Amino acid sequence: MFIGIDDTDSPDGMCTTYLGLVLKERLESIENPILYRLNPNVRFKTRGNASISMRAQNENNKKIKKIVKDTIKEFAMVECNNTNPGVVFIDEDFNSITEEILSFPLKCVRSFVDISDAENILEKYSIDSFYLGNGRGRIGALASAIVCLVDTIYPELRYRVLPDHTYELLAYRKKERWGEKRVVDVESVFKADELTYPSTWDTVDTVNKELVCVPNTKCPVLLGVRGESEKAVISAFNMMKHEPIEGWVVYKTNQGTDLHIQNPSSNIDLKEGESYVVRGRVVSEPSTIRGGHVFFTIENEKEVKCAAFEPTKQFRNIVRELRVGDEVRVYGSYIENVLNLEKIEIVSLVNHELRNPLCPKCGKSMKSKGNGKGYECVKCGTYANSKRVVPIERPISVGLYEVPPCARRHISKPLVRMRGKCVHPMR
Ligand SMILES: [Zn+2]
Repeated sequence: MFIGIDDTDSPDGMCTTYLGLVLKERLESIENPILYRLNPNVRFKTRGNASISMRAQNENNKKIKKIVKDTIKEFAMVECNNTNPGVVFIDEDFNSITEEILSFPLKCVRSFVDISDAENILEKYSIDSFYLGNGRGRIGALASAIVCLVDTIYPELRYRVLPDHTYELLAYRKKERWGEKRVVDVESVFKADELTYPSTWDTVDTVNKELVCVPNTKCPVLLGVRGESEKAVISAFNMMKHEPIEGWVVYKTNQGTDLHIQNPSSNIDLKEGESYVVRGRVVSEPSTIRGGHVFFTIENEKEVKCAAFEPTKQFRNIVRELRVGDEVRVYGSYIENVLNLEKIEIVSLVNHELRNPLCPKCGKSMKSKGNGKGYECVKCGTYANSKRVVPIERPISVGLYEVPPCARRHISKPLVRMRGKCVHPMR
């Protein structure tokens, strides 16, 4: 049986992924645990918008369902109005792999899905589910359960739901420590990063000198190690010194894959709350507003305002160097008519500018005689009809740039994973 779970956490605690550990123990064994990140721009969700799924066997279905439901009731933060847990159970012999089923998970990652869409599918295909609150959690639960089913049974169709994947090892704290300060040996984590990067990433932020893998919330997660393979994340984790833990789970995940990013057919119809890669020419010089946010505008068929917000730290220094005429490709979410940058590819840089001509006699800069009337040396009276082309030094070069690890969204693909491209990774 494939079990999908979503929306059990709240900003005050819990983490849906923790249920993976609990169920691993209670169901005695689980297979292929998956952590599927949905649209990061869904407002009422916690920051990561995570759903999980797994396959459970060797038990009768009735017993599995009872254990899962009891676990949700026990752990879900239902006292928070915004927590609406949902669970979906897909049977082992489910074989209606229709377009509707296959396209559902990606829809949940890239756009907004209504609870009625999920309910229609559950009813139409007789898929069993369970929920608390308003049942909204069944959206992500269904998406995630479909991903686990397809990934496990129909690997040839995996490209539709999980075209690229990474792994995350999540280690959980003992219950009596939840809410207390985390005890993690910083030096051992930096060392583990040094020895396993680039097979693991976003463990630390070397520029901003922060541990990225250790959260600051009240949730049960002690730390999470992200990487390219199960082996890599386990080996990095084994090098880290930390407080006693309750256990850990390695999830297969769409984190670090850019699955949320769409390639729009044109810049004209970018939709609120969706994420894109958009090409254009810089048409306004970057400007920094109070609070340190940097804005500029690009144009293709339409102008698109772009922003690098203050939390993106040193990434803003790259953005500030852009000039009118540069060709870029920007990656990010379109929120309130602004594309919030996660990455930028500098495709080409303007490497010259036009300045007033120099007088051939005295070498002084000539003055414009007015629009279209040419230039004249005030001193010698020499005349020239056009500006001169002057090469300029650019402190940035072409290639891809990204926000630092401390500002990265879970689902964003770090440049260290973009092999074969000209990249400037930050770590
Ligand atoms: Zn002159």
